[in-house]
Amino acid sequence: MHKKVITIDCDEVLANTIDAVLEHHHYQVKWEILTREQITNYHLHEMKSLYMTQKEDKNYFDGFLRKKASIDVIQPVVWAREKLQALKDAGHTLYVVTWRSDELQHNTYAWVDKHYPSLFDDIVFANTHKYNQKKKSDICHDLQSILMVEDFLFYARDVWQSWIKTYLLDRPRNKEYDPQQDACVVKVKDRSEVEVA
Ligand SMILES: [Mg+2]
Repeated sequence: MHKKVITIDCDEVLANTIDAVLEHHHYQVKWEILTREQITNYHLHEMKSLYMTQKEDKNYFDGFLRKKASIDVIQPVVWAREKLQALKDAGHTLYVVTWRSDELQHNTYAWVDKHYPSLFDDIVFANTHKYNQKKKSDICHDLQSILMVEDFLFYARDVWQSWIKTYLLDRPRNKEYDPQQDACVVKVKDRSEVEVA
């Protein structure tokens, strides 16, 4: 069988990161106590009531991800391991492609090694919000990926620009998904529906 390269997003696809970050901050964002349901993505600065800058927003997440404790605290997404192991056993090559920056490399490698040992060939950091950022579409193209699994419509649309089939996990944050405009992005309820053609 011809081996194929499959790329997988990290946060909220492999890792329940938002849950862990919120618990770390006791569900407090600036002066407000929020519920988990109110946080659907990493763009807290877009929540007008918080008056949060993009920098504060970034520190809220990165500050936790830089802590060594995050390696143990962040839980893997249920079923992700089994699904990905099946793809690996079928002979495919798996890469993690994440928005995270190089400064988070150490903890990210440690976390992936702990929860998904021997599964991925490597992790590629897009350095989103940094001067040296790369588009996920370019990374996936360079890796010759034929399939990407994402939880965020913004990145799914971007990856599709490289003509790479993209599965988008159905999440509240993706309510802008338009079946016509985004016809090439395959929205799935859960990752069991991901198929490698
Ligand atoms: Mg994600």
